[in-house]
Amino acid sequence: MILIKSAAEIELMREAGRITAGALRVVGEAVRPGITTKELDRIAEEYIRSQGAEPAFLGYYGFTGTLCTSVNEQVVHGIPGRRVLQEGDIVSVDCGAIYEGYYGDSAVTFPVGEVSQEARRLMDVTRAALEAGIAKCRPDMRLYDVGHAVQQVAEAAGFSVVREYVGHGIGRDMHEDPQVPNFGKAGTGPQLKAGMVLAVEPMINAGRHEVRGLDDGWTVVTADSKLSAHFEHTIAITADGPLVLTVE
Ligand code: MG
Ligand code: MG
Repeated sequence: MILIKSAAEIELMREAGRITAGALRVVGEAVRPGITTKELDRIAEEYIRSQGAEPAFLGYYGFTGTLCTSVNEQVVHGIPGRRVLQEGDIVSVDCGAIYEGYYGDSAVTFPVGEVSQEARRLMDVTRAALEAGIAKCRPDMRLYDVGHAVQQVAEAAGFSVVREYVGHGIGRDMHEDPQVPNFGKAGTGPQLKAGMVLAVEPMINAGRHEVRGLDDGWTVVTADSKLSAHFEHTIAITADGPLVLTVE
């Protein structure tokens, strides 16, 4: 069942989203060659707690980070640790915060120093795919219009869309109904309604769409070891159109 949030609930989610966005901002300011993913994680946790919120991922099914940090061919769910970021890497940082019982969820892929033209293009296209998906988060659209828009942007650029991991409804739980795939047939799926809140999160691969999991039980990588990028926002659907909650 897709829950409808009240205006008061969306206000609280806007605060959760603001804090999530702030955490990603301070992490982005810290990303540079030589920093470890664990240091980025500490920066995010400190920021979230300083705002009166709690990290959403820490302890989730036993996850040990405040962030997911996924480098280069890592798609999602990378565990922060001793890995040192290198010039030319890209790092996908996924972050969630809980404020007054409500969740915010957002992700950004950051360049580490100077990156290749291909890496830059992958990040630009993934961000544009997210924007195209957000534009469909309106009461006159159906759910798979969102993924269809994402897929069109990604595939027109010659990239591919991860199938196994998807966006989701969000509210008092991090993952609520519905699942929000980054692919699909336009004009199909449940009717979108004002008060629904969705996390839209394209994971776009430079090469083929297949992925596999590593032995750590979390990290997902591209099967062909080519780069992957990930951008995400939490969006409330309103009568006036999409309202992005994960901004400062
Ligand atoms: Mg996320
Ligand atoms: Mg998410």
